[in-house]
Amino acid sequence: MNLVLLGYPGSGKGTQAKILSGKFSLFHISTGDIFREAIAAKTQIGVEVSGYLSAGRLVPDKLVLEVIKTRLAKETRGLLFDGFPRTVDQAQGLDDYFASRGQCIDAVVFLDVDEESVVGRLGSRRTCSKCLKIYNLLTSPPAKEGLCDSCGAKLMLREDDNPDVIRRRIGVYKDQTEPLAAYYKGLGNFYPVKGGQDPEIVAAEIAAVLKNNVK
Ligand code: ADP
Ligand code: ZN
Repeated sequence: MNLVLLGYPGSGKGTQAKILSGKFSLFHISTGDIFREAIAAKTQIGVEVSGYLSAGRLVPDKLVLEVIKTRLAKETRGLLFDGFPRTVDQAQGLDDYFASRGQCIDAVVFLDVDEESVVGRLGSRRTCSKCLKIYNLLTSPPAKEGLCDSCGAKLMLREDDNPDVIRRRIGVYKDQTEPLAAYYKGLGNFYPVKGGQDPEIVAAEIAAVLKNNVK
């Protein structure tokens, strides 16, 4: 099974991807995490993409597709894409890639949340600096302030989770990523789920959608 998670920044893609990849033994691929790791490790790709991430702009499609193909070359598990594709060109690139592997996307799950709640969520989001677990100071705070429940490392505020860049990312989403909903609706594998609920409930609804629609 190959899945794509689609939705606004802050709609819960990363949180759901972590739950679902465990539940269904899928390989979780987050282009955002890949880029942030590359930036932290100061690799050549990290240097190339760093300006895009801090400004909240999209990394060029060609580079994104190269990174994805390199990562997936030897991967045989089902795939769960989080934060990719983000443009129609990326979606077409992904379709071509799957065709070359004799595979397809079984479902595109759209996490439906309204714009205002996304702004609030991103501002109160904190991420573990080590294991990347995601917290929300308002709805799912850590037991000990500033520290990860799972591994004890410090929580951090992502550089792009500040008001100006959040606004830019939402604009970019509307312009470049929202058209993907129509693209996938046309292909007949698009499933909206209400993303504004408790993460475990969202995950259960997604699991039910997959059970009923994907063989
Ligand atoms: P969010 O969905 O909360 O914005 P991500 O971690 O998915 O967070 O993405 C963070 C940033 O990484 C984006 O704003 C963009 O600069 C870059 N990025 C991630 N995925 C892609 C992609 N598929 N195409 C282009 N840029 C990307
Ligand atoms: Zn942690």
